[in-house]
Amino acid sequence: MNNIRIVIAGPRGRMGSEAVNLVSTTEHFTLVAVVDHKYDGIMLSDIDGFQSIHSVPVYRDIENCLKNVDADVLIDLTTPEVGMHHTTTALSYNVRPVVGTTGFTKNDLEELERICKEKELGCIIAPNFAIGAILMMKFSQMAAKYFNDIEIIELHHDKKLDAPSGTAVKTAEMISSVREKKQQGHPNEKETINGARGADYDGMHIHSVRLPGLIAHQQVLFGADGQTLTIRHDSYNRASFMSGVKVAVETVMKQNHFVYGLENILD
Ligand code: NAP
Repeated sequence: MNNIRIVIAGPRGRMGSEAVNLVSTTEHFTLVAVVDHKYDGIMLSDIDGFQSIHSVPVYRDIENCLKNVDADVLIDLTTPEVGMHHTTTALSYNVRPVVGTTGFTKNDLEELERICKEKELGCIIAPNFAIGAILMMKFSQMAAKYFNDIEIIELHHDKKLDAPSGTAVKTAEMISSVREKKQQGHPNEKETINGARGADYDGMHIHSVRLPGLIAHQQVLFGADGQTLTIRHDSYNRASFMSGVKVAVETVMKQNHFVYGLENILD
């Protein structure tokens, strides 16, 4: 396989540091630079925890980075505010984005799809890189053909910035595409404490739990007369996401269009 030159944005983050490890230990990947809003003009090996990663320059600004290094792929693992800027800038330099950052809006996704079409460039936005989570979403979509009363409960660590999670939104979208429309619960139901029933997505509900000790977990509950079905996935560490990042980087190099969701590139 040809060598793929990669820039990582957010290298000190929990996901970003796993991605640095993945890229620097994969034979056909080369880490050519990182983008970090706290440092500029130093080498990655100057930052605590990365002493063994040699010859990788650090840039504060993505534009300056892409002007100075030749890259094929940007892996973005930052925040939605800056992630969208990173992604559009990468596309403007003909660098293919693989984005794990969650919290992009529908407008952001439409804008990215438009740019990719115009430039005929690949871009993969994946709210969840864990293969088991993709299966959990697919199985939920299958079950939603038979059960249309559904509650999605996503559980994450308390440092997470966006709610509901990108995975929960993506699950709700996939379910919605096959579920017979229904406003769930009692028609006269009243919340005595605001938010008690969670967020309403097409009449089903999404609940976000935030607790220290958790990583990324989701269960989808289906109910019908006399029965319930629960589909659950748990990520116990961030390494669980890295096989999906690797597949996404390899795939984005072969594609010339926009993809939202890892399920669209797995067989
Ligand atoms: P994190 O540990 O907080 O890492 C975020 C990184 O982005 C930090 O290094 C942070 O630097 C950096 N950052 C913040 N603002 C920036 C800016 N303006 N420019 C450049 N870098 C900036 O979070 P995480 O747990 O790694 O998650 C990162 C993203 O991935 C989140 O959106 C999360 O929801 C998502 N995620 C996706 C998956 C998936 O499978 N797709 C899985 C887990 C998480 P400072 O520390 O200096 O602020």
